[in-house]
Amino acid sequence: MIIILKSGVGESDPEYHSLIGYLEAKPGIEVRRHQEHGAQETITELYLIGDTAALDADEIAGEPAVERVVRVSDRYRLLGRHRGQLEPTGFDYNGLHFGQDTFHLFAGLCAVDNPANTERMMAALREQGLQATRMGAYKPRTSPYDFQGHGAECLPYVFELAGKYGIRVVAMEVTEARHLEEIATELDRAGSPTGVMVQVGTRNAQNFELLKEVGAQTRFPVLYKRGFGITLEESLNACEYIAASGNRNIVFCLRGVKSHMGAPHRNLVDFAHVPVVKRLTRLPVCVDPSHSVGNRERAPDGLLEVQHAAAQGVIAGANMVLADFHPEPERALVDGPQALHLEELPYFRQDLAIIEEAYRRRVQLAADMPRPRPGTEGPPPRDT
Ligand code: PEP
Ligand code: MN
Repeated sequence: MIIILKSGVGESDPEYHSLIGYLEAKPGIEVRRHQEHGAQETITELYLIGDTAALDADEIAGEPAVERVVRVSDRYRLLGRHRGQLEPTGFDYNGLHFGQDTFHLFAGLCAVDNPANTERMMAALREQGLQATRMGAYKPRTSPYDFQGHGAECLPYVFELAGKYGIRVVAMEVTEARHLEEIATELDRAGSPTGVMVQVGTRNAQNFELLKEVGAQTRFPVLYKRGFGITLEESLNACEYIAASGNRNIVFCLRGVKSHMGAPHRNLVDFAHVPVVKRLTRLPVCVDPSHSVGNRERAPDGLLEVQHAAAQGVIAGANMVLADFHPEPERALVDGPQALHLEELPYFRQDLAIIEEAYRRRVQLAADMPRPRPGTEGPPPRDT
């Protein structure tokens, strides 16, 4: 059960104390306080855990501090978009806002290789007015003989260059808890010139111990990448692990799923699930067209297939795009075949701006669209 408090009710107010006193008197109920910082106001929510079935929702709703009581199903308890809970949410991090109504492009290196290429990448981003990037330091590779990333060694120059070029957030994968400490240490040492969004990769999508570790810290937001061999529901539940451990600053990233039907792409592009994740949860949704498509083939219309896939995500309302770029893709140590050239970045960005604008117009159009009365839509069609 979630109790949404009236705006302005704070921890020192008598109404708040009366409500907490009421709840504390109930056996087997634990109360967790959470604040959602929206653009207009901060909403305080109390999450009740335990035997909530025995609670009287109407009685609680009668408490002066309470705006609304929402009974939640077991599904996505913390992150779900439960009935009656439609407030836009999201989080601010290092000067950027991430929500279901914002958009950020994270273009960057799949794997950091050397300071010169890192600087060329950062400079290209600044030229485009971009403030976010992706930089892989710890690379989980399918083969143990492939380059595994420079790890902590490259962090000092990655952070310093990010600061130099005005990059506010660097998305960076971590594959074990130790990496969180290394990132924190090197950021502190560099004087925190940038921020880091820690990435849980698809190969760790159900590494529950790692999920609990990234959830147990709140310094860094988390970019969770959908598991490529598990259901969407299982991936969303994995995000619940992060949230239940204490960190709700999560972005959910679609990156394609494994299927021979994906061929000739590296993965089957799953960006039709953008609106589904937005309907089921309150998380901002990212798409990664590079790891979905896995090549830099050009369609006959002149657009790269990576651009087409990115467009599919953005036209469906994606809030973030993660894309591989490299100054010399043919010499990249990881995923060169799918990386775009730096000279393509302005075009990639402009293309996304066109699509974003089209998405906004679609949303305006939808506001006027007639909505069938409930009960007149019939059951969903079945495959025959
Ligand atoms: C990556 O983004 O560098 C990566 C390895 O992605 P994924 O976990 O989606 O394969
Ligand atoms: Mn990669």
